[in-house]
Amino acid sequence: MALVGTEHHRSVLLSAPDIGELEQEYVLAALRSGWVAPAGPDLDLFEAEIARRAGVPHAVAVNSGTAALHLALEGVGAGPGDVVVVPTLTFAASANAVRYTGATPVFADCDPATGNLDPELLSGLLATLDAEGARVRAVLTVDVYGSCADYRRILPLCERHGVPVVEDAAESLGAEHDGRPAGSFGRAAAFSFNGNKIMTTSGGGMLVTADTGLADRARYLAGQARLPAEHYEHAEVGYNYRLSNVLAALGRAQLCRLDAMIERRRAVRAAYAGVFAAVDGVRLLATGEPGNCWLTTVVVDPRRTGWRARDLAAHLRARDVETRPVFKPMHLQPLHAGARAFLTGAAEDLFTNGLVLPGGSVLGDDQIRRVLDEINTFLGVRR
Ligand SMILES: *Cc1c(COP(=O)(O)O)cnc(C)c1O
Repeated sequence: MALVGTEHHRSVLLSAPDIGELEQEYVLAALRSGWVAPAGPDLDLFEAEIARRAGVPHAVAVNSGTAALHLALEGVGAGPGDVVVVPTLTFAASANAVRYTGATPVFADCDPATGNLDPELLSGLLATLDAEGARVRAVLTVDVYGSCADYRRILPLCERHGVPVVEDAAESLGAEHDGRPAGSFGRAAAFSFNGNKIMTTSGGGMLVTADTGLADRARYLAGQARLPAEHYEHAEVGYNYRLSNVLAALGRAQLCRLDAMIERRRAVRAAYAGVFAAVDGVRLLATGEPGNCWLTTVVVDPRRTGWRARDLAAHLRARDVETRPVFKPMHLQPLHAGARAFLTGAAEDLFTNGLVLPGGSVLGDDQIRRVLDEINTFLGVRR
């Protein structure tokens, strides 16, 4: 049966996985090798390769970015009675990982230009919490949409207060800040290889750190906290967090292609920037540093454009182009009702006026062209 207009009607997804022949080869080789448990040569190599990429000596592969965050927070000693500072503009997992440890998240607003943690606000927040005698166990930074937080300002601040930084680099593998790679800034950092991220193991994550003790403990906890003995010996509650060797093989193939996939996303970002450059009242969320361009977010000032972000979203949705609102801030989530938050209104403004555009490296030139044409059509109608 012939399908008419299939090409035109193919949906454009926000960030679809980019899987090709190399991935098939690697996964098949892992299966044929018999290493299908969460142990094996691909797992060891994947850890070494990600550690090198992040510029840190240790990496522990786990089955999600959330698990990596949990172990990182555990590694800095977060527990009941502690406070962990979390940006309010983030994915739910950042704050959930804090809650797993029993610590209490305190939310902080973002820099309106970048969407990342506001260093100015953080400065006052840490001083306030210090004065109150709060036990601030960590500042959990998030590299939102693939651009690093402003570590140039955040690290000295946290150091002055004696608070370690844990980096949620789930979205920022391959990004840089100050000439250093994402994942190298915190006492520990977490990458995610979920299906929608810059590269994927279908599901997976990695904790990276320069702290040998933290890495060893994370590896131990991720393996059900099994003590070295021939029988099963346990003195603590552990977790089943290790990544399968088969999925590590998938990750290794993806890592071979990471730079090419980032190049592709950068080209997509540049194309969006070109379309919106001439539009008064629309800006791109950006840090001015080489991010990995995981996703491109536009911010609309409806007083200047005469239209809202959600109008553009509706136009694109009607044409099978997926977009997404900017993260709903954590302090507005029912889950965190009553949580303490230091706010400027920036995150709420981005939630209202931001729109995340499709950015997958798997998008073909034809699909990108179609999205750009649809945006131009929308803008033409509105102008
Ligand atoms: C995806 C993501 C996570 C969680 O990673 P999973 O691998 O899905 O568990 C955590 N934080 C942020 C900011 C993310 O985008």
